[in-house]
Amino acid sequence: LMKDAFYSNWIAPLGPHVDAFEQEMAGYLGISHAVALTTGTAALHLALKLVGVKDGDTVLCPSLTFSASANVILYENAIPVFLDVHPESWTLNAEALEIAIKKYQPKALIAVDLYGQSADYNTILELCEVYDVAVIEDAAEAHGADINGKKVGGLGDAGIFSLYGNKIITSGEGGIITTNNHALYEKMKYLRDQSMSLEKRYWHTEIGFNYRMTNLQAALAVAQLERIDEMLDKRIEIFSWYHKYLNNINGIKLNPKSENYKNVYWMICVELLNLSEIERDNIMVTLNDKHIDSRPYFYPISEMPMYTTVNAPVTKLISERGINLPCYFDITKEQVVYICKELKKLL
Ligand SMILES: *Cc1c(COP(=O)(O)O)cnc(C)c1O
Repeated sequence: LMKDAFYSNWIAPLGPHVDAFEQEMAGYLGISHAVALTTGTAALHLALKLVGVKDGDTVLCPSLTFSASANVILYENAIPVFLDVHPESWTLNAEALEIAIKKYQPKALIAVDLYGQSADYNTILELCEVYDVAVIEDAAEAHGADINGKKVGGLGDAGIFSLYGNKIITSGEGGIITTNNHALYEKMKYLRDQSMSLEKRYWHTEIGFNYRMTNLQAALAVAQLERIDEMLDKRIEIFSWYHKYLNNINGIKLNPKSENYKNVYWMICVELLNLSEIERDNIMVTLNDKHIDSRPYFYPISEMPMYTTVNAPVTKLISERGINLPCYFDITKEQVVYICKELKKLL
């Protein structure tokens, strides 16, 4: 497909592979519309604009997420309010959500499907409907995750996925924005292409963006999408190996898996329950000496210098003692056994 795209001379953005990718992605997700963009961050940015977030509006966001979820709120001069997460699911806490909605009267909520586990959309959608809050699904890490068989990305007003190099499927850099609303879909295509008038070339009726995906990247994305079931199955298998060798160890907690949720295990997550942050960091250094790569969980967004500090104790605790272990596509069971053995020794 890449060769095909290359020899077609269609190097520029948009083009036949972009159309194909958008249609196939929408079909895979069971959503009316998908629009391909430069990055997941661009998709989040457009999502905020599409649901009408403006200067001074409040937007809710979990404190435990990747920084991109929050940064876009400041791009629009809106006010982020960070929420703590649930200790078991690591996603938004329904009780805290209702309190925050009443207190801050937000325009929108960015719900995050963290590490491949869908947020509790049953609760989120119900609450946001009652209080008229727009729901944006940040499914950057959760292509193919579902609740009761319904895939994430088409549940709220708009959904987003990332195609960055380490995400479930990739085009190097890339993003997708999804919606079931036809008017929003037209607006997405317009905003990504500099908001140029469809009738009058080089006439722009509002501030637009260059968020277009190139045809070459889309060819790669189509090829990746063809293999997504195989890739998700492999992730689930890798998790089952870690689960087998780590699950019954005292002081270890693995990725959450709620009933009726399909977790796609974007990362293998290991919470080291009895360790301090320093002990956790030391374990990562020692693992590295044994040629085992690992990384810490995301730090609480609410503690970063550009944001106001809020108290998010659950986020802080999870963040201090979590590590991600290797889960690349070609990892073997023997390698997972080795990793688990070395980690157990260190504990
Ligand atoms: C990766 C990621 C993004 C941003 O996606 P990019 O394609 O890297 O811009 C947003 N939110 C979450 C939760 C992510 O993991």
